[in-house]
Amino acid sequence: MLRSNAETTIRKSMAMFVDNEVIPRAREIDESGEFPRDMFEEMAKMGVFGLRYPKDRGGAGGNTTLFCIACEEVARGLMSLAAVTAMQSLMGTNFLFHYGTDDMREKYFLPAMKGEKVACFCLTEPEAGSDLGNVSTRALKTDDGYLLNGMKTWVTNGPVADFYTVLMQTDPKKKFRGLNFFFVPRDTPGFSCGKPFDLLGTRSTPISEVAFKDCMVPHTHMLGAEGKGLSNLLSILAEIRTMTAALAVGLQRAAMDDAIQYAHERAQFGQTISNYQLIQAKVANLAVDLEASKLLTYKASHMIDDKQEALKEASMAKYFATEAATRAGDQATRILGAYAYSMEYSAQRYYRDNRFLLYGGGTHEILQPNIAKWVGL
Ligand SMILES: Cc1cc2nc3c(=O)[nH]c(=O)nc-3n(C[C@H](O)[C@H](O)[C@H](O)COP(=O)(O)OP(=O)(O)OC[C@H]3O[C@@H](n4cnc5c(N)ncnc54)[C@H](O)[C@@H]3O)c2cc1C
Repeated sequence: MLRSNAETTIRKSMAMFVDNEVIPRAREIDESGEFPRDMFEEMAKMGVFGLRYPKDRGGAGGNTTLFCIACEEVARGLMSLAAVTAMQSLMGTNFLFHYGTDDMREKYFLPAMKGEKVACFCLTEPEAGSDLGNVSTRALKTDDGYLLNGMKTWVTNGPVADFYTVLMQTDPKKKFRGLNFFFVPRDTPGFSCGKPFDLLGTRSTPISEVAFKDCMVPHTHMLGAEGKGLSNLLSILAEIRTMTAALAVGLQRAAMDDAIQYAHERAQFGQTISNYQLIQAKVANLAVDLEASKLLTYKASHMIDDKQEALKEASMAKYFATEAATRAGDQATRILGAYAYSMEYSAQRYYRDNRFLLYGGGTHEILQPNIAKWVGL
């Protein structure tokens, strides 16, 4: 499946970082509920945030596949950290990189690549989840700039971010063609951020509401040509779905590795539970799910790198791999028996953290009808 030496190199260096630095501290970070800033800065030094951006413009000169490999490895160690990584590397910085002014890139994009500034991405509103056509946060064009009013919710990194890429409606009559992205620095007067949500999983990834009350930003803060917000979002949708599938691969690997190790160690009825066929069947199912998830994920990432249309493949990868991650979280907790119920073991975390993968980039109820349509229904 690996196509280049670069893929082997990034896999090895990320695996070493995750094994030595992330896994030993995963429980402590998860229980602290704090944004893992030191690890975030460490990953910036390794060039992770710039993997999908060109070298001559502040990135690390990789591609989507290398970025997905990094996401997969980090998710194997700690999904909270992987969520923050994905946000910083893709959705949070993509629009600024492509459509920001030189000055904005200098002051925000380059520091974000160095881990000095935190990025985030705001689509969802209290009344607009899957239905983005219902976005009502308003950007009103005036002679001096855009006047922003409204509210976003479920903003990953919201409480700690330095700048926000925000989907807003410039003209409700135009519906989808009135949707545009805006760049909003945290220190914009009128901007405010709510308290971090108390979450089921990925407990160290801070998420909150953010509000805009008569925030004024210059005309140059519209990211992309007017009316192109939704099509610019669609241009990275395959990448978002493939990245989410890669996170799901990482979680499956962690759950399966822990389950296998435990099955070798735990003896009942005079032998290790690895000898029982019902345990073997569970591990076989985990292994097949994992292999299929990897194949779908890296087929989609390679297609994206080859500049092929990959939305169907990316949607299949996201749908299958994230469902497989929910199965992995469930099955690992059965193999570990009662110990999976203890915070001392990581199985409980995989069981909680897999839910993170189900929502962003399209829920499965949104993906399934599209997949059916693409195959001819
Ligand atoms: C941990 C986490 C992090 C997040 N981070 C971000 C972020 O950084 N930025 C951001 O903008 N958003 C973020 N979100 C929000 C996420 O994008 C939304 O949850 C997602 O878009 C779905 O919206 P919703 O939760 O409001 O569900 P809804 O759209 O209200 O859906 C509720 C249920 O109805 C189903 N449904 C909806 N429409 C249909 C339909 N047409 N047919 C059949 N079923 C349907 C859905 O599949 C779901 O099962 C995050 C969410 C979570 C949980």
